[in-house]
Amino acid sequence: MDHRPLTGQKALVTGANSGIGEGVARALAAAGADVVVNYVSAPDAAARVVRDLEASRVAAMALRADVGREDEVRAMFEKMLSAWGTIDILVCNAGLQRDAPLTTMTLADWDLVLRVNLTGMFLCAREAAREMIRRGIRPEVSHAAGKIICMSSVHELIPWAGHVNYAASKGGVRLFMQSLAQELAPHRIRVNSIAPGAIQTPINRAAWETPEALVSLLGLIPYGRIGLPEDVGKAAVWLASDDSDYVHGHTLFVDGGMTLYPEFARGG
Ligand code: NAD
Repeated sequence: MDHRPLTGQKALVTGANSGIGEGVARALAAAGADVVVNYVSAPDAAARVVRDLEASRVAAMALRADVGREDEVRAMFEKMLSAWGTIDILVCNAGLQRDAPLTTMTLADWDLVLRVNLTGMFLCAREAAREMIRRGIRPEVSHAAGKIICMSSVHELIPWAGHVNYAASKGGVRLFMQSLAQELAPHRIRVNSIAPGAIQTPINRAAWETPEALVSLLGLIPYGRIGLPEDVGKAAVWLASDDSDYVHGHTLFVDGGMTLYPEFARGG
């Protein structure tokens, strides 16, 4: 059976020309969704992802926008809505790190991380929710009027010295998502987060690119392997599909057990 649970749905994935966003875009397309591949740099990588998605017999297009800029986010949604008519699935994935100890962290490092990881989510979710509320449920494609998925992190829970800007942004994502879920439930818009653990992407290359770094990383992962973008892609398809229709305001940890306090496995 050709099981394509997202057939006919229109999706937008931010930061979809690399890493987890690319993995999510590929998984949504394989599940039948048409996908906008948002990017801010590396247009060639975005074009490559679009070509690959089209091989899944769906529509795909690349749209450039800095998710931290209101005018660019607005313009991106206007282009998507005029081309495809509506949006059913938003995955707020774009994110970055600018790591430094507190005493040397610049205000620019703090502002950029909060702007992309948290404000970017607000700007994109606001545009998507406006359209989902205007349109309402399309019963031919989904029980819900829309699905919003926030890419959080295990660091919405685990404090992270040397990364106070990043941890604060992801801690903010947690209550942003939950508050949005409370607010949008009457409109039948489902809002959830995915909290990845260590997924092999460019953002954390230093943590896996040498054998020594990988051994040290694996000490934090009870399941004993690093995660892959497709692990997150599969979770996103489930959260976007009616298979999770009663799941709302939830953070799904996709982390190989990283949040299980692995050091306590050997005593405590
Ligand atoms: P990545 O660096 O491969 O991808 C990040 C993407 O975001 C890129 O496409 C980048 O261009 C885009 N981006 C950055 N700033 C942007 C902006 N202003 N506007 C639009 N796009 C922008 O890293 P990744 O690991 O794939 O990270 C994706 C998300 O997953 C991030 O939110 C990150 O915090 C989260 N995450 C990653 C891991 C991990 O282990 N890789 C773990 C937990 C959470």
